Amino acid sequence: ASRCIEVALAAPLFRTFTYRVPDGIAVPVAPGTRVLVTFRNRPEIGICLGATEPPEGITLKPIQAVVDDVPSVPAALLQTAKWIADWYAAPLGLTLRSMLPTALSSAKAPAPASRTQRMVRIVMDLPSLLQREQTFARAKQQRVVYDLLEAQGGAAPLESLRVQANCSAGVFTAMAKRGLVDIRDEVQQRDPFADRPGTLPPPNPSAAQQEVVRAILAGDPGQVFLLHGVTGSGKTLVYIEVLRAILQQRDKTAIVLVPEIALTSQTVDRFRGAFGDDVAVLHSGLSDGERLDAWQSLRRGERRIAVGARSALFAPLERVGVVIVDEEHESSYKQSETPRYHAREAAIVRARIEGAVVVLGSATPSLETWERADRGQAIRLTLPDRAAGAQLPPVTVVDMRVELRQAVTARNPNAPFDEALGVFSTALLVALEQRLVRGEQSLLLLNRRGYSSFMQCNACGDVPVCPHCSISLTYHRVPEILVCHYCQYQQPVPLVCAQCSADTMRRRGMGTQQVERVLAERFPEARIARMDVDTTSGKWAHTQILDRVGRGEVDILLGTQMIAKGLDFPNVTLVGVVDADTGLNLPDFRAAERTFQLVSQVAGRAGRGPKGGDVIIQTRMPTSHAIRHAITHDVTGFVREELGARRMPAYPPFVSIANVLVSGLDQAATAATAVAAASWVQRLVDRQGLRDLVFVGPAPCPIDRIKDRWRWHFLLKSSQPTLMTRVARYIAERCPVPKQHELRLTVDRDPVSLL
Ligand code: ADP
Ligand code: ZN
Repeated sequence: ASRCIEVALAAPLFRTFTYRVPDGIAVPVAPGTRVLVTFRNRPEIGICLGATEPPEGITLKPIQAVVDDVPSVPAALLQTAKWIADWYAAPLGLTLRSMLPTALSSAKAPAPASRTQRMVRIVMDLPSLLQREQTFARAKQQRVVYDLLEAQGGAAPLESLRVQANCSAGVFTAMAKRGLVDIRDEVQQRDPFADRPGTLPPPNPSAAQQEVVRAILAGDPGQVFLLHGVTGSGKTLVYIEVLRAILQQRDKTAIVLVPEIALTSQTVDRFRGAFGDDVAVLHSGLSDGERLDAWQSLRRGERRIAVGARSALFAPLERVGVVIVDEEHESSYKQSETPRYHAREAAIVRARIEGAVVVLGSATPSLETWERADRGQAIRLTLPDRAAGAQLPPVTVVDMRVELRQAVTARNPNAPFDEALGVFSTALLVALEQRLVRGEQSLLLLNRRGYSSFMQCNACGDVPVCPHCSISLTYHRVPEILVCHYCQYQQPVPLVCAQCSADTMRRRGMGTQQVERVLAERFPEARIARMDVDTTSGKWAHTQILDRVGRGEVDILLGTQMIAKGLDFPNVTLVGVVDADTGLNLPDFRAAERTFQLVSQVAGRAGRGPKGGDVIIQTRMPTSHAIRHAITHDVTGFVREELGARRMPAYPPFVSIANVLVSGLDQAATAATAVAAASWVQRLVDRQGLRDLVFVGPAPCPIDRIKDRWRWHFLLKSSQPTLMTRVARYIAERCPVPKQHELRLTVDRDPVSLL
């Protein structure tokens, strides 16, 4: 056998390397095996791709060692990696590295992380605003700390809290003395899923569920199914029954993808309830060591189900029988750095290679998947009704333009300006009040965090923007600062306008912090929890907040899109959408689709129990098709209208697109490079006579500066995926970019965001 092997190394290069296998190391070295080599005079871990012929006239370097007994990358996964590298124009070595735990892909052993940290924990509950005002009447900083703690699920690391509250450690000591909080060193909780009790799934699938399960199990190898089940139709039980058959009758393994583990802990608990230790939960909270343990238990076949976010698709399982992608429409399945793969598309490819079936589940399928079913490339299965006789909740729409007009007319001109004006409609307030009286729970969605969207000078109209990004700064109240949501830049709140020096700075637009305050003032006895990026910085904060809701310790859960993902709480009888329009006017062709999905999904959290439920949607655009069809739970109607809008000009799913992004530190150089790159591509198109390649741009990106980098882009569209693959690859590999101003060119195939 040949003593030369082809090796993929984790470098940003579109090529592989040839090494010699010295005598004393047995050949052949199996593809997928890790080898230790010297690269640029440093030890590196590479992946053997297979034997190759020695190139002529070159002395090859030898590999140092073969690291694996059994290939770390099973054959089907290696093939999947090659597809990803090809389709998304990514270097194969980088793609393979992203599939392996850090501990396996680095030549250096990972440093063990410290296991204890100083934690502050609330010990005295002050659920209502009234109690808090009394307790903190003369201790403003303590109030800030308490609110921050509360918002993070009741506990937080002291150091991070101190930074967030911008206070001295003395504040904590004072609070501990008053018996409000407890401070101590705690062993960092590493894998909460290891000791969470699983939940038992309902015992008996309904006839409709059984029928769907039968259809999936009858699927040919590689068959893709779209499981379109309305919210609350019991898709999880379908997954569980399919898994049971695949594992027990067919003795195969399975991969289950969920959008985000922390937000879908309820679903994950059900898998663990059904399959116990057979499930490896791969989540971002795992330490390198724990991740390695989980990976190895899968590789050795000790656990047969991998559950996790998009990278769980790379679980080192063999004999995979089914790949389930829950909430397949979620954009978090797309990775935003190299390799920029979409886990749903990669799942279909891996399943085809493995001979497994694929289940793409959603109540609001993506247009891509919907169209795939229309073309006959996926079999559509439908669960049209909710499980256990529950009904889809009736949805009421409130036109906030009318509401605001009435509120202004009715307002007492001598009363002080009311910040709550226009936040809540009368209908929503009445509905919230009723729930509180009846001891039922409410969910409120506002997809905008912070207190106000931005500040503006009433005199000259100036808006403070981030010095590093082209985006206005968001006003945060606890602690009081302006923050950039793209780069986290912070600055104190200006007292006077930076442009005209007038003292007329006003807060405009509302965020979750403000709605929380308005709510607390209106319903001082209510127990309110807020869930957004600011309250969930602790790794398990999401799960803690959700568990509190599940235990009935929260009356109103207010949050951003985080609260719209799969929550199943039977006592939630009201869902309110405070402002459905936040995402509707973004300059992105998926704006309407996202809004429809978000509003439908959050509406689907209501009325899952025997008490039923209601949904109230506040909007200024009641005639938008995204809102109209969400009201009637009409996916088909929405898709029909939206597909019509994607034909002219053509957008996915009718064409394949790639976003070519040029960024750099210098504005003029970035623009010039983008223009040069575009004409370079244009020449390629002309030279090769590529008629089926349409060009849009170049132009500055909608957000034309992020983290000091200027951003330009152009779009490529083609109805031939293979042509797109060739062109995207050619651009990524060859398009010249000057080596200055940190200029960078990236190709994002099938992008989920064009901002
Ligand atoms: P989906 O993911 O489709 O929105 P879930 O899987 O969360 O729905 O199921 C909704 C609720 O219905 C859950 O509380 C679940 O336990 C319950 N359920 C599902 N199937 C059945 C069944 N066959 N019998 C009784 N309850 C069921
Ligand atoms: Zn910024």
